[in-house]
Amino acid sequence: MSKIPMTTPIVEMDGDEMTRVLWSMIKDILICPYVDLKTEYYDLGLPNREATGDQVTVDAANANLKYGVSVKCATITPNAQRMEEYKLSKMWKSPNATIRAILDGTVFRRPILVKGIDPYVRSWKKPITIARHAYGDIYKSTELRAAAGSRAELVVTAPDGSVQRADIQNFKGDGIVMGMHNTDASIASFAHACFKFALEAREDLWFGAKDTISKTYDHRFKDIFAEIYEKDYKAAFEAAGIEYFYTLIDDVVARVMRSEGGFIWACKNYDGDVMSDMVATAFGSLGMMSSVLVSPNGAWEYEAAHGTVTRHYYKHLKGEATSTNSVATIWAWTGALRKRGELDGNAELMAFADRLEKATIDTIESGVMTGDLVSLSTLENKRKVNSEEFLRAIASKM
Ligand code: NAP
Ligand code: MG
Repeated sequence: MSKIPMTTPIVEMDGDEMTRVLWSMIKDILICPYVDLKTEYYDLGLPNREATGDQVTVDAANANLKYGVSVKCATITPNAQRMEEYKLSKMWKSPNATIRAILDGTVFRRPILVKGIDPYVRSWKKPITIARHAYGDIYKSTELRAAAGSRAELVVTAPDGSVQRADIQNFKGDGIVMGMHNTDASIASFAHACFKFALEAREDLWFGAKDTISKTYDHRFKDIFAEIYEKDYKAAFEAAGIEYFYTLIDDVVARVMRSEGGFIWACKNYDGDVMSDMVATAFGSLGMMSSVLVSPNGAWEYEAAHGTVTRHYYKHLKGEATSTNSVATIWAWTGALRKRGELDGNAELMAFADRLEKATIDTIESGVMTGDLVSLSTLENKRKVNSEEFLRAIASKM
């Protein structure tokens, strides 16, 4: 059988721990036998970030801007314990934060549904996609502790030197202060990404923020979405028979829990961070949540929503068999291959991505699955397999 050719490379960002182990197995067992895989490889594993002073992360993000499509493995975000474990010279920033700061954009997280794994929320029948704004707010904030008796003010100096000043608090006791920001341009690109994604998926778009309390900050998000919708998307939404609406974040949360699913939920950065973990868990497993960063610069970055599954990796290091779910990482690859195929007019590559996804779902629905799914599945003839057996079962389905 001849392999499917590729013209443009995909930017490949390798990562850490158990997902790094799965990464090479996925390539060896499920991709390279069928595709003449072209990638430009960047090793974002923590040892190489340390060795390059984290330059590799910046280089990878710039390559993503150059080529358009990347696939990223989960990576460790160092904390104090990791400093010790990996003998780091510095507590390197989260690679995802570095990449998002360069690409800008919106992260879309979508659960992968299979028969036999029912969402904890009984009414949910279709996937709920969370669109997380990936720029600014508390993720790019400045924080200080304030001693008792301190006065905190907000100061904005315009280019002409004029100053806006507002009191934050006169501290009677010790306290804390934070300054955060966003930009009209980033909010607008968030809005465009959401409207475009909804049109492509033919699903309604819901957006919630707290404009009643945050009358300037959150209100700006609401207004920018409304202006862009009216001007650029309303007609297309009506033609597609889909809807956009804005309501308070509390109201959105209540509606989400009563819904059937099948819509895109646009979230500000923090809401998206927190709610995507809730939605992923309620749909079944973190191992079944796919994720893509859509940049206004025309770049796509595909990854799994979960982390490096450290506990499983330590077992793996001891020589014990693991049963780690590779589905979301497979979806990162299929997403990247399909998008590469779409951009290059490579229909064979797109069809391969579809086939690999179908083989993966068929494998699980036939009862062969990893441990995290076995405990959730209602199928009668289910069988727990190890990480590698799962990939081999998919290959034989293909
Ligand atoms: P995690 O790696 O997502 O794992 C949390 C737990 O969820 C696991 O211990 C496991 O539960 C379960 N789980 C997650 N993915 C699974 C899968 N594919 N198959 C089976 N079970 C799975 O999160 P974490 O433990 O908080 O973080 C570990 C490391 O990942 C940290 O260093 C963090 O910085 C990093 N991280 C990276 C990213 C990213 O690169 N995008 C995102 C989040 C975290 P059981 O142990 O109970 O089986
Ligand atoms: Mg989170």
